[in-house]
Amino acid sequence: MKILFLDQSGKPGGAELCLIDIAKPYRQDCLVGLFADGSFKTLLEENQIPVKVLTRKEIEVRKKSSVVQGLRSLGQILPLILTVAKIAREYDLIYANTQKALAIGSLASFLSNRPLVYHLHDILSPEHFSETNRRIAIALANKFVSLVIANSQASKDAFIDAGGKSEIVKIVYNGFEPAKYKVEKSEVNHIRQELELDGKFVVGHFSRLAPWKGQHILIEAIANFPDNVIAILVGDALFGEQEYVSKLHKQVRDLGLENRVKFLGFRDDIPQLMTACDLVSHTSTSPEPFGRVIVEAMLCQKPVVAAKAGGAIELIDHEVNGFLTTPENTQELTQIINKCLKNPEQIASIAKTARQNATERFDVININQQITQHIKSIMGL
Ligand code: UDP
Repeated sequence: MKILFLDQSGKPGGAELCLIDIAKPYRQDCLVGLFADGSFKTLLEENQIPVKVLTRKEIEVRKKSSVVQGLRSLGQILPLILTVAKIAREYDLIYANTQKALAIGSLASFLSNRPLVYHLHDILSPEHFSETNRRIAIALANKFVSLVIANSQASKDAFIDAGGKSEIVKIVYNGFEPAKYKVEKSEVNHIRQELELDGKFVVGHFSRLAPWKGQHILIEAIANFPDNVIAILVGDALFGEQEYVSKLHKQVRDLGLENRVKFLGFRDDIPQLMTACDLVSHTSTSPEPFGRVIVEAMLCQKPVVAAKAGGAIELIDHEVNGFLTTPENTQELTQIINKCLKNPEQIASIAKTARQNATERFDVININQQITQHIKSIMGL
């Protein structure tokens, strides 16, 4: 089966990293069409996945766009729709991996008479998207999409609540290669030395720097501990959240934590860095659609504490394979950090259970089989 994947991003966020794993088995017979150039393209090439940048003009629709802005962008995207429709005729199916890809893919699917799959990596709620964007996404999905792959029950529920057709939605979680998360002790020692983590209790945070990812909550919690408890913040402002980055740096200065909060920027050695941590924290202030970092921490056999909302609730069973705290509640986060600091044996057994659970539930081979089955069924194969 020949698949034309579409993704709007030039940078590798969670949806893009997930797409690499989905496209890999189809690499002989697929193309990933991007609506922006950047490091995501390089990552696809490194994975021998055919990729083409289909436009370098930014599509001026934001998550909070109005109708007028939406209409203005229509003229701008028409050439892209025609390009995609032309390419799509060489493929059996269009697979839209992001919202703008859904918009372009819908009309291209109509013009090329190819079925459309939409991988929903978002919670279509007012917290994340404007009313207009949600309406457009739902209208397009209901009209043109044969299969919506929702990355969690939370994403599926929000899609249906926003008016999406339930009968076209299947839930498929992100897949991971468990072996990638088994890190040699020597690599961990190297990282701990390089980052001067020896003798410290290290709480890691692995997300792009964005207000709703809540890095400020972790910084607040770290201030409640003595000097041996430190945080590493791994990730960059991928989508222009520079103001938040400045705020975080100011918060660190104001709290006198310059030596205890390390900003590491975007990294591609996540398993190694996670394994070098004592605890991985997830502090999103709005419901997380899935939460790749939570599963990755589990696979690294690290205790993980996550904000109790959205997909995180489907991944973590509190005190069984991780910890859940009320979103934005610094006090609860502080208590969990303290618990992990004081009870290393109990948390080691929780982390062991986490690795077993995550390996059983999220192995990429099983996940890719589920996706292939769903695609085959809409193709009548
Ligand atoms: N990530 C990464 N390098 C970084 C920070 C994050 O490769 O410096 C990865 C992280 O390991 C995870 C993904 O980015 O696989 C983020 O996915 P998640 O679902 O947690 O959040 P999203 O970006 O989709 O909102």
